[in-house]
Amino acid sequence: MKLNTAGAAFALLSVASAASLQSRQSANSVPGMACWPTTAEWKAFNKTVGGALRATVPWAKPCFQGNAYNTPFNADQCAYIEANYADNPIIGPQGQPCGPARERQYGSFSQLNWEVCGASECLLQSAAPQVVQPLIRQCGLGRMSAYYVNATRPDQVQSTIAFCKSHKIFMSIKGTGDDYLGRSSSANSLALWTWNMKKLEYIENWTASSCPAANYKNVGIMGAGIAANEAEEFFTAKGMQITAGAVQSVGLAGGYGMGGGHGAFGPKYGLMVDNALEFDVITADGVARTINQCNDPDLFYAMRGGGGSTYAVLLNYKFKVFPEVSMYFYQFTADFAQPQGPLALPVNNPGLYTAVSSLAKNQQMFVDNNVSSYNFYYPGSFETYQILPTDDADGMQRLKDLTASYKKTLESIPGTIIKSDNYTVFQHQTDFAQYTTPIAVRNTPQGFAEVLAGRFIPDTMFQSNDSIDTLTKAFLTGLQATQNPLDILKPIAAQIYVTGPSGPNAPNKDNSATGVNPGWRNELWEVIYAAGWVQATPQVAQDAITEIVHKGMDNLRDITPGGGCYMNEADYLEDDWQTAFFGSNYNRLLSIKKKYDPTTFFNCWKCVGWTGASDPKYSCYNKSTNPLVFTLPI
Ligand SMILES: Cc1cc2nc3c(=O)[nH]c(=O)nc-3n(C[C@H](O)[C@H](O)[C@H](O)COP(=O)(O)OP(=O)(O)OC[C@H]3O[C@@H](n4cnc5c(N)ncnc54)[C@H](O)[C@@H]3O)c2cc1C
Repeated sequence: MKLNTAGAAFALLSVASAASLQSRQSANSVPGMACWPTTAEWKAFNKTVGGALRATVPWAKPCFQGNAYNTPFNADQCAYIEANYADNPIIGPQGQPCGPARERQYGSFSQLNWEVCGASECLLQSAAPQVVQPLIRQCGLGRMSAYYVNATRPDQVQSTIAFCKSHKIFMSIKGTGDDYLGRSSSANSLALWTWNMKKLEYIENWTASSCPAANYKNVGIMGAGIAANEAEEFFTAKGMQITAGAVQSVGLAGGYGMGGGHGAFGPKYGLMVDNALEFDVITADGVARTINQCNDPDLFYAMRGGGGSTYAVLLNYKFKVFPEVSMYFYQFTADFAQPQGPLALPVNNPGLYTAVSSLAKNQQMFVDNNVSSYNFYYPGSFETYQILPTDDADGMQRLKDLTASYKKTLESIPGTIIKSDNYTVFQHQTDFAQYTTPIAVRNTPQGFAEVLAGRFIPDTMFQSNDSIDTLTKAFLTGLQATQNPLDILKPIAAQIYVTGPSGPNAPNKDNSATGVNPGWRNELWEVIYAAGWVQATPQVAQDAITEIVHKGMDNLRDITPGGGCYMNEADYLEDDWQTAFFGSNYNRLLSIKKKYDPTTFFNCWKCVGWTGASDPKYSCYNKSTNPLVFTLPI
């Protein structure tokens, strides 16, 4: 590994700028400051982590050429990157690399906006990555850290924490890099990359650590770097199912497993955090702890919903798994003959109104019967997928009975061209996930920039025809408001997820065991609006798109006062984020944060204990008023 890049950075920074940086607050050390490690110190640190320190290489760098810092254009490597740049998840056969190509190295993140810092970037053109190569411009690190530790062992995590503390460097943590709020990349941080923590274990009769009350039958253990497809393959082979989400590339133990984690089993088994039994973690003091309902119970509570990068580095996640049941599935997809396209007026489309309101009218009944769903609405089409997981031998008939009236209503919407209207069954979670992943990722494509906004719709909104009318109109107004001309190439739907712990059968109804947003306990819908852009989109257009999505949610915010959203599928500009992301749990979560992390070693954008937009480590967020931080050239 070359460690001479820090030296190059010293030359670039003027004495004056370095001096002004000195005054910045702690844990924001940047190259040029006295506390930034020397090359010798980086080398010594590398030894303490067993040679796992790496210099970050932006993934697309082999496609660039033509300046002092770039290695030459590499046609073969570039061709692979082009081919996989904006891919949907690639599901490898067992034992092969899994997940989308852009998760397999540190130097790329799922959404391009979280790779960029101001003018510093190393992006290809997502819509046509292969068009012009080599690219003759600076390939910059953007908001990626200059160095990262490819961590596979607890002692490497402890050494990294100690090194960051002694040099006042911010430590960022990346698992998959899927975070929609950019919380896993931070310029001038030292990153801990947990992707290669790949432990997977199934224990039939599991004994908790010094906590008989937590002992459980059918328990899974997964390392911090496990993605959903890896876990699904492993547990399916054991005849078990897990509370994974819609897309197989998402990491289960990191942001997902500590922030909530919703999926098709939501109404039946609850969220991922509901099924957590024990965590192995390293806290900010460098202490390795095994936490559960008996040991550090307040920390365990907080890490079940209080979010990633906030309380500790999670090493292993121990959780309930469930004997396999069949997943019965009803899908209805249709185009409207008129109106079509992103500039059409969805609010004036009576067919869309019927599609949305008929879901709302059936919603409480569906979740009461453990039916979860994914629903996507575009100006010119819609798709609805209803899922009933059950071991009932009559499961198919039950789903048909439950959805009969809904199906009839959808079939009778005038002016539709029905594309699919059928029932099927998946015997294994892997089959289900491989079918649904491409459907879900169409609306959250990787390798594009993306912003989104989310909102919980509580069960009270579904209780009368009047409130359903209000809800439907507000939803469609938002759908219309969030239409983005740049989405013509890749339309993104307004989405309704019915995958939370809704209905009477989900666990932890009083939410006392988990720090997750209490809004999850009585929501029926999680609504998401999203929009994206590609490389070279002018900043003014990026800001406009971001604002469209932010404001597009206002109608639903207005009809759900005091409500909230899922912290992981949220608007990074959400104003009252403490209430929106954590609800009434925020103060308790903050006091636990202060107890276990009194110096705010862990921090992330709008997380519990956030230091605020004026903290220099957040200057890459383009709405920040701060000047851009320096990043090391590569
Ligand atoms: C395509 C796609 C589909 C999605 N579908 C769903 C879904 O169906 N259901 C759902 O609930 N969510 C879904 N999400 C949202 C998902 O929950 C978040 O993106 C989540 O942040 C992903 O966690 P991660 O660890 O994989 O990502 P990362 O970006 O790696 O990390 C997310 C956050 O957790 C921190 N973190 C990661 N690992 C650790 C660790 N070991 N210790 C401490 N902190 C850590 C990071 O620093 C960051 O703050 C989806 C996201 C995408 C991109």
